[in-house]
Amino acid sequence: MPERYDFLVVGAGFAGSVSAERLASKLNKKVLLVEKRGHIGGNAYDFYDDAGILVHKYGAHCFHTNYDDVWDYVRSFGEFNNYVHRVRTCVDGKILPIPINLTTVNALMGKQFSEAELRAYFETVRIRVPEVKNSRDVVVSVVGEYFYEKFFKNYTFKQWGVYPDELSPEVTSRIPIRYDTDDRYFSDKHQGMPKEGFFKLFEKILNHKNITVITNTDYKDVLESVKFDKIIYTGPVDYFFDHMHGKLPYRSQSFEFETHDTEYFQEVAVVNYPNDFRYTKITESKHFTYQKHHQTTIVKEYPEAEGEPYYPMPMENARKQYERYAKEAEKLKTVYFAGRLAQYRYYNMDQAIKQALDLVGTIAKGE
Ligand SMILES: Cc1cc2nc3c(=O)[nH]c(=O)nc-3n(C[C@H](O)[C@H](O)[C@H](O)COP(=O)(O)OP(=O)(O)OC[C@H]3O[C@@H](n4cnc5c(N)ncnc54)[C@H](O)[C@@H]3O)c2cc1C
Repeated sequence: MPERYDFLVVGAGFAGSVSAERLASKLNKKVLLVEKRGHIGGNAYDFYDDAGILVHKYGAHCFHTNYDDVWDYVRSFGEFNNYVHRVRTCVDGKILPIPINLTTVNALMGKQFSEAELRAYFETVRIRVPEVKNSRDVVVSVVGEYFYEKFFKNYTFKQWGVYPDELSPEVTSRIPIRYDTDDRYFSDKHQGMPKEGFFKLFEKILNHKNITVITNTDYKDVLESVKFDKIIYTGPVDYFFDHMHGKLPYRSQSFEFETHDTEYFQEVAVVNYPNDFRYTKITESKHFTYQKHHQTTIVKEYPEAEGEPYYPMPMENARKQYERYAKEAEKLKTVYFAGRLAQYRYYNMDQAIKQALDLVGTIAKGE
């Protein structure tokens, strides 16, 4: 290891790995990347299970973006296939497209609505709320109570442990309502999955002579022994400040993997179960990669109150608590906070990458 590093980067997810790569190859900086887990890749990490099927360890991760620079960046490290994410949801025993679209409504209600008729129908059932204040308001103000109950209410409760009327609007406003038959989950212009998987992509991103990676190490354990000038921190912000303003609340998740002796288990990669079972969804990752295999592995996702921090709680009191940490972070001139844990915000992968690209761009300008 060199005597001194220009940067200590904490966390080998997209925010940390892309920052490390840009610092190393664009600015010729010496970087030490420290990762607490036993592998690089953060939550996007994937691996071949005992049956030889590529699965996502921390829940299904589908790549999609509207940022041209992010799309060009990821494809400079490996080929992407043309996978477009489609999700189904199981309501009243029927497997229906989600986000709600024309097909969903017609199949659930036994109707033959046209697009115009569907718009007119939702106009008659939607609830006029004076001001959209929470995640329930977002939904009922567009599709009314019946669709809210069937598709959103219980799913949200399972996912977050509270009902939508206690959550900020952003949780349900992420999911569009469509009047046509478009059944893509995301409408971003660029969509696809890395052909060799995310882990291989990370290996290529971090394969640079200026980058040293150590895994299985909490960054606090190397602070005394390593010399460096600046930090890019992508771990939990409250941990960085030794929880001085209390522990930030997170929602966690556990994953149950099952291998089945059949080529495919379900028609699309993800099927949601809003009203039945304790799990929220079943994911079958062979759909992402088009992998040929006589067996298939599925994953059931169970939301949990305790465990690894996955989702910042989208609630007003949590946001206020985070703001106190953000003020502490602003005072530090040699530490940059990036990514979903350090900024206590839900980011998609492309947003974490975009942040890292922009952050290193800003660092470059300051030199
Ligand atoms: C279940 C689930 C499904 C998701 N699905 C999608 C999807 O389909 N599409 C999409 O675009 N996004 C998805 N996301 C979001 C995606 O995971 C994030 O955008 C991405 O992980 C953000 O990257 P990051 O680098 O900020 O964080 P992370 O990937 O979490 O990386 C942070 C890293 O920091 C490490 N770390 C933490 N503390 C320390 C410490 N003290 N010392 C050293 N290392 C530390 C962690 O171990 C971790 O590896 C999903 C998230 C979850 C939880």
